[in-house]
Amino acid sequence: MFDRDVVLREIGLTPVWRTRTATSIDVDIPPPLQTETDHSAPTESHEARAARIATLQWDELNADIAQCEACKLCQTRIKTVPGVGNRSPDWMVIGEGPGENEDRQGVPFVGRAGQLLDNMLAAAGKSRKESVFITNVVKCRPPGNRDPESDEIFACAPYLERQVALAQPKLLLALGKFAGQKLLATDATVGAMRATPGKRGDIPVVVTYHPSYLLRAPLEKAKAWDDLLTAHRLSETARD
Ligand code: SF4
Repeated sequence: MFDRDVVLREIGLTPVWRTRTATSIDVDIPPPLQTETDHSAPTESHEARAARIATLQWDELNADIAQCEACKLCQTRIKTVPGVGNRSPDWMVIGEGPGENEDRQGVPFVGRAGQLLDNMLAAAGKSRKESVFITNVVKCRPPGNRDPESDEIFACAPYLERQVALAQPKLLLALGKFAGQKLLATDATVGAMRATPGKRGDIPVVVTYHPSYLLRAPLEKAKAWDDLLTAHRLSETARD
């Protein structure tokens, strides 16, 4: 599956491909946000809402997301972006939140970052049509492409939990700090999370850089390639 020359071209590593070295520099990630505020509607507590969401099937889940007002992001979104891809995937890829184009189209990872993600997945023999489900930690766009805030991540978490439960992927690939921290319940840096793949339940979790960051820091693609190799290895040895 991994013809090195082919995948390096696919992922755009050439000519900057390098193996991981002791001198590699990880991103300086700011500390995580600390507060968690419940923005659920007053008629339904967060716990009751989470319990209800945990019973929904895919189409019901998407319908629930479409009318969700559980956090302030509902006030500025154009479309909700629940996720796209195979509902019984090998990999579930989880980013941060929708951007401007995603907000308009209701589809995650469109535009340049999406193209890079698709190339990364293709390099690993995966595609969003056949073997991957792609979603985000928050399903509505944070205004101005700011980071999602902790209360928004908290409010949206039941949707991600249910998506993981329904999809039962062989592997969770977290793109960036927010997805990694949410899936692994940690406040570690991306560098630390990359170094030590974790588990969520019995599902392996690999953390790598967000494609938007890789567009700004193409030399880091080499590290992302290492992460994809790790993801491939772990998903191949995961339960069938
Ligand atoms: S981000 Fe999530 S919790 Fe907030 S309004 Fe959108 S769907 Fe609801």
